Amino acid sequence: MAEVVYGSEIAADIKAELKKQIEELKENHRRIPKLTVILIGDHAASLSYVKGKERACGEIGMDNELIALPADTSEAELLELIDRLNHDDTVDGILVQLPLPKHINEDHVIYAIAPHKDVDGFHPYNIGRMMMGSPTFLPCTPKGIMEVLKRISLKDLSGKRAVVIGRSNIVGKPIAQLLLAANATVTITHSKTANIKEITKTADLLIVAIGKPRMVDASWIKEGAVVIDVGVNRDENNKLCGDVDFVSAAEKAAYITPVPKGIGPMTIAMLLSNTMDAYREHESE
Ligand code: NAP
Repeated sequence: MAEVVYGSEIAADIKAELKKQIEELKENHRRIPKLTVILIGDHAASLSYVKGKERACGEIGMDNELIALPADTSEAELLELIDRLNHDDTVDGILVQLPLPKHINEDHVIYAIAPHKDVDGFHPYNIGRMMMGSPTFLPCTPKGIMEVLKRISLKDLSGKRAVVIGRSNIVGKPIAQLLLAANATVTITHSKTANIKEITKTADLLIVAIGKPRMVDASWIKEGAVVIDVGVNRDENNKLCGDVDFVSAAEKAAYITPVPKGIGPMTIAMLLSNTMDAYREHESE
């Protein structure tokens, strides 16, 4: 039976440490770090993610601002706002909540955020630095997964076989890169992979980022594997669940992350941590 690894507990430790650092700044009458979040439209899931980020900033005493704009905001207006925030000395981190309305080109927006304020780690500069092995801001979800692996003493993955299911720019591709940098032998699989289970069953470490409720059950998993479930889905009863069928997978895995209370809270903790890093860099200029 697998040991359940609660990202929520690791995230709480990280947030407590950040809170302490911010309290020290306040005691010393220093400026405190600020995260600005831009939300376009009223997409329900985005609204809930943005609220979660706002709440997390509040918990640790980080300054934060939500700029909520109507769904018909033009790309030019959004780019102008980002430009203003790029030059605003009181702002350390800028996050534009994705997805954006169809009339706005997501790439244009990601490219517009100054790399040193790109606390989501999506700008090509930051992605390039990660690929070259000298990272600046890492994308939050993959960074959170690596923190979880550290806590179960899997910092060095030499000799381990890692399989990633999913190849998105925000999870699959960057986590594969970070696992490679940690010396794992990495395979990326996706919807066009043939005989996928034959591959996943060889994994010492299986990272699942698909977006399909409970798709991966015990028959995909090698006995004793570490299983990281990134998925956030609603099942047929509107219950929150991951991409992994937790009950059956937990019988075969050595370690498994749950949904909720798994990778989700780690993603938010890493956003706060990136914002703190942006602040430190900003203050040292
Ligand atoms: P995405 O951009 O939709 O990518 C999904 C990936 O899964 C794609 O690469 C797709 O392959 C692959 N896929 C789809 N069906 C498959 C199948 N039957 N077999 C194998 N691979 C399949 O999703 P994402 O943004 O990476 O997110 C994935 C999940 O993680 C979602 O549930 C999302 O909500 C969740 N998520 C959670 C967090 C968090 O903080 N916990 C953060 C980000 C995302 P193709 O490329 O071939 O289409």
